[in-house]
Amino acid sequence: MATGKTAVRPGLVKLLAETKSGCTNCGVCVGDCTFLKKEGTPGQIAGPAASLPT
Ligand code: SF4
Repeated sequence: MATGKTAVRPGLVKLLAETKSGCTNCGVCVGDCTFLKKEGTPGQIAGPAASLPT
C-alpha cells in the first residue's frame, strides 16, 4: 500500500534509532560540517527518518 512516504531499508532502522537516541543535539559536530549546518544535527536528521515505513 502506498503511503506517500519513502520506505527505509530494514538494515537502516537500527542505525537510525541509535543515532536518534544517542545524539543529544549538542551541536559540536555541526560546527565542523557544512552538510550538518544545512541539514541539522545527526539526531535531527535521523528523527523523522526513524519513523518512516520499512
Ligand atoms: S550533535 Fe553531533 S557531536 Fe553532538 S551529540 Fe549529536 S552527533 Fe554527537
